[in-house]
Amino acid sequence: MHKIIAANWKMYKDRTQAATTAGELAAVLPEILPAGREVIVFPPFTAIESVARVFDGKKGLAVGGQNFYPAPEGAFTGEISIDMLRDVGAQWVLAGHSERRHVFGESDELVARKAVFALSHGLKTMLCIGEKLEEREQGSLYAVLERQLMAFFEARPDGMAGETLPGRLAIAYEPVWAIGTGKVAGPGEVREAHGVTRALLERFVGDSGKKLPILYGGSVKPDNAGALIALDNVDGLLVGGASLEAQSFLQIIGA
Ligand code: PEP
Repeated sequence: MHKIIAANWKMYKDRTQAATTAGELAAVLPEILPAGREVIVFPPFTAIESVARVFDGKKGLAVGGQNFYPAPEGAFTGEISIDMLRDVGAQWVLAGHSERRHVFGESDELVARKAVFALSHGLKTMLCIGEKLEEREQGSLYAVLERQLMAFFEARPDGMAGETLPGRLAIAYEPVWAIGTGKVAGPGEVREAHGVTRALLERFVGDSGKKLPILYGGSVKPDNAGALIALDNVDGLLVGGASLEAQSFLQIIGA
């Protein structure tokens, strides 16, 4: 399976800063990006267009939106639509990032509805799942991942069969306790969670579940990226803090 290395720039960088970092990536990646690797950058909304312009026509580089509201348009003050994201060059969206779930209170049901909406309206979707520390300590890893994935797979309309998902849906496993904390999950923990996720994907969509990439996210840095991406069922990385500087993100991409 090809590997996806994604950068979540969260609420960092204005347009100039984003275009500068994107330019540093675009200057070298088309030559050095290993075959079968894809890079996606999720900038803040105001910088999506600047990054999309820099990436335009560069093989293996894509841009996405960190959030959106699941309606075509309407009286939703402060929200942004899938068509608006596409209009500024986004090819991907994130759904269910742990900061959306736990800082902004997005429920499994809303996250599922958003992922279904984005896919139905033609944007590739990275659905983020992951347990909180207390859930892991209570032995609820399986139950949490099952609940989060089931919400999405059960919300799908009839036309969104499993076979239609590879190539446009990616899963990001991000243990909440490892995001932005400097605590990376150990190889055993990542192997276990990705194995559980793979088994659940196969349960929900059969063989198509083998073809859905599962990214790991949570304090990925240049010095741990190589070991993480080599683990079974780790088909990519979703990187926050260490993606903000081009040099550090380039080291992760090449790991
Ligand atoms: C993230 O934002 O998805 C993330 C994994 O952040 P960090 O790499 O900073 O832990």
